[in-house]
Amino acid sequence: MQVFKFGGASVKNAEAVKNVASILKSYGNGETIVVISAMDKTTNKLEELVNAYFYKKGNTASVFDELKKFHLDIATQLFKDPKNINNEIENVFVEILWAIEEEPSFTYNHHYDQLVSQGEVLATKIVSAYLNEIGISNKWLDARGIIQTDNTFREGKVDYELSHTLVQTQLIPQLKQHAIVITQGFIGGTSENFTTTLGREGSDYTAALLAYFADAEKVIIWKDVPGVLNADPKYFKNTKKIEELTYHDAIELTYYGASVIHPKTIKPLQNKSIHLYVRSFLKPAEPGTVIKESDKRIEVTSYIFKDKQILLSIQPKDFSFIAEDNLSTIFRMFSAYNVHANMIQNSAISFSVCTDDDEQKIEPLLIELQEHFKVLYNKDVQLLTIRNYDDDIIAKLSENKLVIIEQRSRNTLQMVMKEEQ
Ligand code: ASP
Ligand code: MG
Repeated sequence: MQVFKFGGASVKNAEAVKNVASILKSYGNGETIVVISAMDKTTNKLEELVNAYFYKKGNTASVFDELKKFHLDIATQLFKDPKNINNEIENVFVEILWAIEEEPSFTYNHHYDQLVSQGEVLATKIVSAYLNEIGISNKWLDARGIIQTDNTFREGKVDYELSHTLVQTQLIPQLKQHAIVITQGFIGGTSENFTTTLGREGSDYTAALLAYFADAEKVIIWKDVPGVLNADPKYFKNTKKIEELTYHDAIELTYYGASVIHPKTIKPLQNKSIHLYVRSFLKPAEPGTVIKESDKRIEVTSYIFKDKQILLSIQPKDFSFIAEDNLSTIFRMFSAYNVHANMIQNSAISFSVCTDDDEQKIEPLLIELQEHFKVLYNKDVQLLTIRNYDDDIIAKLSENKLVIIEQRSRNTLQMVMKEEQ
């Protein structure tokens, strides 16, 4: 049994959906759980919709219409007779409309999850119906009835025991009967039947969880890159593909921000020695990268670039030291607001943290921090992590940048930098 994961780029239009079908034809033999995320930039659009709705800023109607047209157009191109699928798409949009016609009555994060999750619902409905139409028989399954989480909206914490039982009792029988099960990445459900999401780009994590609960042999993440590269081609030229990685190296790369795989993906797979392949949906015959246990460590220099960072410098108001009691207060606040420290540095009277500048999370955190500490911050900074660094690469990558903090260990160098003005 295997788990396939197709992300937004792999289902970005009708052609792409056809390509998914051809990959399933060639490589989907045996029992295959297929995890799909929202089509193209749908998640971003739905975020826009939530913001317009919740903060009454912007136009909900135009985003709504655009999203609806986008999905209906794909259906028109895929189906000879799109009547049934159009009905299903319409139903989802009716649900969205009902939700945004009411005044917000829960938290932002709660509304976010109820609305943004619909992108995955739409994508899986379209792909599942299309596959059935062309003779690839499959069963559509609602992940919200399988992946159970607590009610930490936008960052649902998965109940392993319950989800495991549900995979065994609900998913596996369907897989035995239909061979292919299509389900959503990124979304889960609570005991009160609310929808949660697992964090942006969380579909990889869903794939890993399902593989873990179902005891799959392998997971294949189909991407628009040839595998795991030593750097993000969005920011760097001349990237190299890495053939093989250990779970340890993969965890480190993703922890430092390599966006090719979601950081939470590796643990469940490592725990059951399930091999993870990252392969190209554009060149599906190529081997891609395999992540598994081995004695080999990667020696290739890899660099991970994160922009839109904020550097916080936190100091006790009374000039006392940064000591264990202060640190535990600070970490508790970070954890309460789900803010993840990408780099930390401690000195006698100041504690610096570099983190993603997500206003939703940072603003309330800042307010609370400022009650206890003096907080300085530096916006628009970048965090660069270089593994297996050498002096040439450091000089090259920090050219024309102002390096604010630098931290070195034997293998890893991190720099918080700003564009030189
Ligand atoms: N659609 C979600 C997102 O864009 C989840 C994912 O793509 O993995 O964040
Ligand atoms: Mg996505």
